[in-house]
Amino acid sequence: MSSSLFQLAYLLSAVLFIVGLQKLSSPETARGGNAIASLGMLIAIVATLLGEHLVSFEWIVIGAILGSAIGLIMAQSVPMTAMPQMVAVFNGFGGGASALVAIADFLELAKRASGLEVAHGVSIVAGVLIGGVTLSGSFVAFGKLQGLVTEKPVTYPLQKTSNFILLIAMLAAGTWLSLSAPAGGVDVFYFLIGASLLLGVLVVIPIGGADMPVVIALLNSYSGLAASAAGFVLENMSLIISGALVGASGLILTGIMCRGMNRSLANVLFGAFGGGGGPQAASGGGPGGERTAREINAESAAMMLAYARQVVVVPGYGLAVAQAQHKLRELGDLLGRKGVTVKYAIHPVAGRMPGHMNVLLAEANVPYDQLYEIEDVNPEMADTDVALVVGANDVVNPAARDDPTSPIAGMPIVEVDRARQCIVLKRSLNPGFAGVDNPLFYLPNNSMLFGDAADSLGALVREVKEL
Ligand code: NDP
Repeated sequence: MSSSLFQLAYLLSAVLFIVGLQKLSSPETARGGNAIASLGMLIAIVATLLGEHLVSFEWIVIGAILGSAIGLIMAQSVPMTAMPQMVAVFNGFGGGASALVAIADFLELAKRASGLEVAHGVSIVAGVLIGGVTLSGSFVAFGKLQGLVTEKPVTYPLQKTSNFILLIAMLAAGTWLSLSAPAGGVDVFYFLIGASLLLGVLVVIPIGGADMPVVIALLNSYSGLAASAAGFVLENMSLIISGALVGASGLILTGIMCRGMNRSLANVLFGAFGGGGGPQAASGGGPGGERTAREINAESAAMMLAYARQVVVVPGYGLAVAQAQHKLRELGDLLGRKGVTVKYAIHPVAGRMPGHMNVLLAEANVPYDQLYEIEDVNPEMADTDVALVVGANDVVNPAARDDPTSPIAGMPIVEVDRARQCIVLKRSLNPGFAGVDNPLFYLPNNSMLFGDAADSLGALVREVKEL
């Protein structure tokens, strides 16, 4: 393949990535956008295989077969509820792969005892640093989502100072390697690899609870930046551009998540916020002493829903756990046929991964025009007859609005407590991911329909059909 044809193929793939990304901004065009971006990736891969001879084809075939087999097994065996964890792990592998490219390149140069050009050295150092942080940080995020690592912030004295010193040492080592590394810089290079992996762990463990979405979006952005650095190492334009696009879109997503939490990025990264006081008792014995939560059965709840003028549904993580999105849609359709206006309020951090609720409801073909952002639905809450909370907790916790001492103070919420009636579908009074007690459950206009969301929605569908 001639060099200009090769560059043209990369240019075409970059254009397809950008068009695909643009189409992802709306649910109606997202599928097409995905297909266009995939075509761009196919062109980039074919061009790379035909145009570069960096490795032998045997290794590529072995890698492709192994990778596809592992991917296939994981995709089939990982339950839908564990998707956020899987995405975190894949993100980490992206960073790890970029770091490996940079490591292999450096060690090859060291073996040949050739010095480093500054630009090349900077690319290698950036690839190792960002890739290493992404790899280990994503695995800590995986552990937090999987419940293997505490989701509460882990803090200790002089934490920020020691992290800062480590970062300075890494930057010094990286600068030295980039500017003057002779072949003998291998020991410093190994320090950089170890320190990057350590820093990834150290920067993610102090972040917890309701702040995790920001970290996940940020790590996603880092994996793109690491890929871009690997692109510079390999002098591969397509990788540089696609990595930069992932990095930039990850940063935009991080901004959206920060707005969803009403917090600045600096506050999330350095504030050790969001842990709460740990899960509180399930019996209604949270702060405030004796409080009772009113229980409701499916029959009464169905009556309230069927005779309402407007119902606002707030889906949350429990809907994903119960995989009850199809039943929820069935209920929404039934209510619609009875003349009830049904709106779905989507909180940006509901669930366990950015866009989780949009994906879930799209899977059940809930019409997009019934999905509302919180700033559009909150002003209508006082006119809403019933707010139906399905497996959501933190995103409807009025303490975020009313209690400045709450660990989630300032986080925007769907104000279901302002609806005439609120019905919460969940299994117990236990707190959500942030581990914060929810005063909503004890309000006079709130009722709890206890049980697995799929069972409760199934019962509501049956009852509404009989009315
Ligand atoms: P929460 O985690 O606050 O609450 C979910 C609730 O669902 C739980 O309280 C649980 O209560 C209930 N639940 C679990 N399983 C079932 C089931 N089978 N049937 C019915 N209910 C069930 O979820 P939200 O969506 O309200 O908030 C998301 C939280 O996760 C926020 O704190 C957010 O910051 C955090 N987070 C979000 C990420 C993202 O990217 N979106 C990433 C990481 C964290 P019970 O056990 O009583 O049933």
